[in-house]
Amino acid sequence: MTFKQDVVIVGGGFAGLTAARELSQRGLSVTVLEGRDRIGGRTWTDERLGRRIEMGGTWVHPTQPHVWSELTRYGLSVDPSPNADRYIVSTDEGPVVLDEETALGLLEQGLEEMLGDARTLMPSPAGPFLTPEELAILDGESVGDRLDGLEMSELGRTIVSSFFAVGFQTPDPREISRAHGVRITALSNWDVTTELEAAAALRIEGGMGALTSAIAADSSATLNLSTTVASITAHEGRSIVETTDGQQYSARSVIVTVPINTLGRIAFDPPLSGAAAQVAADGQAARGMKVWARVKGPLDPFFAFATPAQSPFHVGQYEFDVDGDSLVVLFGSDNTAADITDLDVVQTALRRWIPDVEVVAVDGHDWTADEFSLETWSNLKPGQYAAIPDFHEQGDQLLFAGADYATVWNGYVDGAIETGLRAARTILRKGSAAE
Ligand SMILES: Cc1cc2nc3c(=O)[nH]c(=O)nc-3n(C[C@H](O)[C@H](O)[C@H](O)COP(=O)(O)OP(=O)(O)OC[C@H]3O[C@@H](n4cnc5c(N)ncnc54)[C@H](O)[C@@H]3O)c2cc1C
Repeated sequence: MTFKQDVVIVGGGFAGLTAARELSQRGLSVTVLEGRDRIGGRTWTDERLGRRIEMGGTWVHPTQPHVWSELTRYGLSVDPSPNADRYIVSTDEGPVVLDEETALGLLEQGLEEMLGDARTLMPSPAGPFLTPEELAILDGESVGDRLDGLEMSELGRTIVSSFFAVGFQTPDPREISRAHGVRITALSNWDVTTELEAAAALRIEGGMGALTSAIAADSSATLNLSTTVASITAHEGRSIVETTDGQQYSARSVIVTVPINTLGRIAFDPPLSGAAAQVAADGQAARGMKVWARVKGPLDPFFAFATPAQSPFHVGQYEFDVDGDSLVVLFGSDNTAADITDLDVVQTALRRWIPDVEVVAVDGHDWTADEFSLETWSNLKPGQYAAIPDFHEQGDQLLFAGADYATVWNGYVDGAIETGLRAARTILRKGSAAE
């Protein structure tokens, strides 16, 4: 049987839900096909370790205009993560504790040395950022090229290497486009405090799930969960989307919102063209991990750094008190470097920073191994930043939306919402032009 609608959206994360709301509110018939048995994609608010925590995306920031305006629209507020009163740096001789000014000063020095010369190319967080020629130069380089030559103290190098490994979700930042790296710093107004705040300071009251539920409730699209798309075939004026269980959906437009690393699981006919095909074949670079640890007893808020050579987890931070225990979140850059379900591994990593901690439980989701993501948050390889616009040139019937296809907050919830809005607007424009 073939189901007929105006638009099929593949994926019910932030991008898919946003596009579904925009289109269904304007009277189009829309079906969202989502492989998992829940909405939210790479955000997932769940009860674990004694309280509600985020298994995936967590933090938002006022420098991210699209997600911020959604919070306003649904009357949601933010809930700050605790302010770290100590910054702990792992060294071969044991942990070194720094105050905020010293730690952030070192990070700022490193970012300036590695990225600062690009400031003239991306002076403003609001763009326009670059000419195509400038972008090609920056995109051809890697963000990690200068890491080895950094003229910094050992502590400074540890902080910068840890920050890069986690932010870019790979132990080797040479795998990341310099344009991609510079863009995030530019969007944070070239200010380290803002960059750290955007990365890890403001949670949504009620969790990411409160926002995805609000967007979904505001939409009249049909939502089919546990429905995995296997192929998308374009015919004259309509496309056929076929699921792994053989159901067919016919639509005038299809919006694909799946992560770049999962594109290979969908057969496109005609195949993806141009640089987009190459990006889909190569995949983006992020392959890290996130894990939660419940630690016995209270802890003072901290933020900690360790390099990929020192530990599988390079950043850790205190997040919550749960009945007198502490919940700490840790991030790594290589999901094969540690088993996130292994309490001893996580405890060993935490003890590099706080030697006497006792971990009583751990929990996490391996996004890099999960067939519906195969990555954490998108981080583009050299040459891929300039290729992203190609995803938006795949003919009239096939559109791409999602954090991975954003050219501003690429990899963030904000980029997912922005591209969802853009894809919906393109379809609505096309519809009104046809009338
Ligand atoms: C551990 C982690 C921490 C993060 N931290 C932050 C953060 O603090 N702040 C922030 O802004 N961002 C963060 N991110 C990134 C952010 O969560 C994502 O960029 C964003 O949620 C992506 O939304 P999306 O709609 O583009 O893609 P997704 O959320 O991945 O949605 C795509 C959907 O497509 C579905 N799908 C895939 N293949 C198929 C198929 N063949 N058929 C049908 N459905 C399919 C998937 O199940 C998924 O639901 C984090 C991500 C992770 C993993």
